[in-house]
Amino acid sequence: MPSPALTGLTPDALAAWLKERGEPSFRAAQILDWVWKKKALSIDDMSNLPAVLREKLEASFRLSALEHTHTQGSEDTTRKFLFRLHDHRYVESVLIPANPALYGEKSDRRTLCVSSQVGCAYGCRFCASGLAGFTRNLEPSEIAGQVLAAEQLSGERVDNLVFMGMGEPFANFDNLMAAIELITGEKGLHLGARHLTISTSGLVPQIQQLAEHPQQIRLAISLHGATDEVRDQIMPVNRKWNTAKLFEALDYWNSRKKQHLTLEYILIEGVNDMLEQARILAGHARSLKAKVNLIPYNTVDGLDWKRPSEDQCRAFRDILKNAGVSATLRLEKGHDIDAACGQLRLKQETEEGIIAPAPSKR
Ligand code: SAH
Ligand code: SF4
Repeated sequence: MPSPALTGLTPDALAAWLKERGEPSFRAAQILDWVWKKKALSIDDMSNLPAVLREKLEASFRLSALEHTHTQGSEDTTRKFLFRLHDHRYVESVLIPANPALYGEKSDRRTLCVSSQVGCAYGCRFCASGLAGFTRNLEPSEIAGQVLAAEQLSGERVDNLVFMGMGEPFANFDNLMAAIELITGEKGLHLGARHLTISTSGLVPQIQQLAEHPQQIRLAISLHGATDEVRDQIMPVNRKWNTAKLFEALDYWNSRKKQHLTLEYILIEGVNDMLEQARILAGHARSLKAKVNLIPYNTVDGLDWKRPSEDQCRAFRDILKNAGVSATLRLEKGHDIDAACGQLRLKQETEEGIIAPAPSKR
């Protein structure tokens, strides 16, 4: 195992490490300041630390758990960053620039889409991340480090975070919450919890757990089907927690939280884009007071589903709107990259022979 990353250390853990070595306690604040605020690129850059302490740090820690290897896209567009981990696995983060009208809000905020696992065990049939199966959970340093690295690489502040990259965040709950502490902590990145959205395919126990969490973190549900009949076909997780159990957990969420839920719904031709699904979805969204985010399916190599016609997408949205549901649909081209989390990593690992090429059919 490589030495731990400084980006995974809580302020308390760092203070304890310093104390054991007889270092004064104010050094903890200096080090954390270099890591999270000044965004140092090496331990050697921490110029107000004595050289001896820098050497001790070097001997015990790496600064970052991520090695940036690739950027796809450019400024003013959606950018995808690929990072290599110590075990030569890859994760990616996607930086979505100003005004993508995400969730229907006109905003000039930059949103970063973060990964929580390498691969995913949940095997949703439309998703690139599920294609190659599950490899491992990301460590807190590997999750929080994506935000820091995106800010270093872009030179911009990240305003919003969405846990919608590779992996099921709720299946890595403890590391996710530890990372969120680093991201929201005053001595860390200090991003407000209200600017964080966790997306889940519907893990009921963790929805309940987050409902009881004191921070106002937002929740998005990957629904993708309004009935068990449709959801069972595309999301194996529905066999464990069906729509009745899921909606019950979401009612509980609403009883504890003020912030509105988001229901995500990928539109896949002939699979879940029937207008009857829109009518049932409208009923659920209304009773949950949730907004709906419609996403035309993004083609995945190795899977043969398609996005519906624009007319069909609009008709689906209009049923929701006419029922009084707040629904967004992004049809413009050029944002495809942000719906395609998992694909860049898959390509890289396949080229390096780390994983077998994706099967042509599942
Ligand atoms: N596991 C969590 C978070 C990661 S997936 C979850 O499922 O919610 C987050 C989102 O990526 C999915 O909900 C879906 O909106 C999007 N996604 C995955 N594959 C896609 C595809 N082929 N086209 C469009 N969106 C996709
Ligand atoms: Fe996993 Fe989410 Fe993809 Fe489903 S949609 S396979 S839960 S990453």
